[in-house]
Amino acid sequence: MLKRILYFVWVTVISFIIAYGVKSGSFSAFMDSIEYRTFDIKQRVIAKSGLRKPNSDIVIIAIDDGSYEYILDKYGEWPLRRDIYAKMVDYIEAQNPKSIAFDLMFVKSIKSANAADNKLTEMFKKYNNIYTAMNLDDQPINLRIPPVLPDNLKISVKDNYNQTYDYLEYSNCRTILADILDSTSNVGMVNVSRADDGVLRKMPLFLKYKYSFYPQLGLLVGLDYLGLRNNMDFHVLKDGRIRLNKTNKVFYAQYDGGVYLNWYGPAGTFRNIPIYQLLKAVNGEEKLDFDFRGKVVYFGATAASLFDIKTVPVDKVYPGVEVQATYVNNIIDDSLIRPVPDYVNILLAILLALITIFFVVKISSIFVAIGSALTLYAVYIFFSYCMMSGMWGGYYWVKIVFPITVGVFAFITTVIIKYLTISKDFDRQYQLATTDGLTELYNHRYFQEQMQMAVENAKRYESPFSLIILDIDLFKQFNDNYGHQSGDAVLKQVANILKKNVRATDIVCRYGGEEMSIILPNTSYDIAVTIAQKLCDIVAQETFILTYNRESHVTISLGVSSYGEEDGLTASELVSSADKRLYNAKNNGRNRVN
Ligand code: GH3
Ligand code: MG
Ligand code: MG
Repeated sequence: MLKRILYFVWVTVISFIIAYGVKSGSFSAFMDSIEYRTFDIKQRVIAKSGLRKPNSDIVIIAIDDGSYEYILDKYGEWPLRRDIYAKMVDYIEAQNPKSIAFDLMFVKSIKSANAADNKLTEMFKKYNNIYTAMNLDDQPINLRIPPVLPDNLKISVKDNYNQTYDYLEYSNCRTILADILDSTSNVGMVNVSRADDGVLRKMPLFLKYKYSFYPQLGLLVGLDYLGLRNNMDFHVLKDGRIRLNKTNKVFYAQYDGGVYLNWYGPAGTFRNIPIYQLLKAVNGEEKLDFDFRGKVVYFGATAASLFDIKTVPVDKVYPGVEVQATYVNNIIDDSLIRPVPDYVNILLAILLALITIFFVVKISSIFVAIGSALTLYAVYIFFSYCMMSGMWGGYYWVKIVFPITVGVFAFITTVIIKYLTISKDFDRQYQLATTDGLTELYNHRYFQEQMQMAVENAKRYESPFSLIILDIDLFKQFNDNYGHQSGDAVLKQVANILKKNVRATDIVCRYGGEEMSIILPNTSYDIAVTIAQKLCDIVAQETFILTYNRESHVTISLGVSSYGEEDGLTASELVSSADKRLYNAKNNGRNRVN
């Protein structure tokens, strides 16, 4: 029992070390990229299943291809003049929206449009629920001097546990209209962090610039919705998560300060209103049948020609503004992905390895074992899907690739060990079936088989072979004098003498009782007699050790026969010839060859 447990532990540890070695070595990035693929597939399946619906309080005013055309036709220029945005803001504000956010950057325009810009700035002064975007970058300082940003844009991030966070950090940025910066603190960043494969899965909570932290636009808008906008004080917890201080709002951040987004579906999943419809309503051309009361209204470009396009797990062509909407939606619903800690993935890997080993050990058919293991992994993948889908309350990311790799290594290792032990068992069974327990010579059955084979070989290849049968002299009496145990000791020692003094190709068997036989391939009668005589002499000269350290001597008598017309052409004829000669040797005084 203990041995079995140790065996399980051993294979698990080995598989784990192999898989971990592969993971942390040069295959690491490869393993991660497959893990990301499984993440994307899970996200797509969940999005398609209709399990998750976007929050209907989020609406996008989309600068789509149609609207872009409309704007060029109607206003003759892009970007739109800022007074037109001001009009739209006023129109929406009249309906009491929750907030209005621009995924657009109001940078200083070349054309002198101060009057128009001022109209928009007035809106930021008039309403405190308007948000706008900025972008940090790493442009060289001889292109532009890194500007100083107003203090009211900063947020506080405390890390009392000195976690090894590696926040996204930038050295430069392009400022937006100074008047807007002066009028509001509702300015957030719209930088994104893409994975190596170019797919956007993560968004930073905040970014570092000139030793200060600046929030993501979506974080501000999301916290505004939750009524937590005025408390921008974040604490890094002991386990690496980030908490909005004095609230139970906790973010499952990674060590770059980023959070994994939980997607709702392909592009267009959020309620999209083309901006031309809003413009028509603002201009009194056409009524817009939409109520903005309580809504989070996001302005952003969805037109492919405006280049704000990302690749995300659920869609190859996905507008940046919908990324923002997804982020806000995740913050509002507390549905950001929660990657489970590493030790959970490791425990799951060990569990998969143990069940796999159990299957291989307990199931005799390798095919059924493979089927069971594959079923186990399929169930595990489904489990991982359920963990992420939210159907079990939470959006947990348990890894698939690492645990299943450990499982597969455990499978291979166990199969190898199992078949090595089976073949060793087989060898042992064969040995038991062919040898005699006392003398360790071949047994009678093996002798008969080998005689048949020797006869057939002799017939086919006309090669001579001989047979010696020998019997210990007056052994009954010996047993009576010294006891059976001493008799057994002598039998063993005689057997050893025979084995030691014949060729490796000769087959020494225990014929029965104290009779032994030797098959000598490729040996003529004369040579066999010489060998027999040599054996007879050696035994006669040997001092045998008995029980109680007593010593004694025995002799043997031997009969020899050879394949041929004279002695016989079958196994039984040859045995009876040798037997007859042995009988003669006994009659002629024992301790001799005949
Ligand atoms: P002979 O010289 O004519 O062969 O006299 P013998 O006493 O040896 O006569 P026989 O071969 O007929 O006797 C066989 C005896 O060998 C009987 C038995 O006591 C002894 N014997 C047979 N097998 C074993 C064994 O496995 N162990 C021991 N200790 N004795 C055995
Ligand atoms: Mg005898
Ligand atoms: Mg006998």
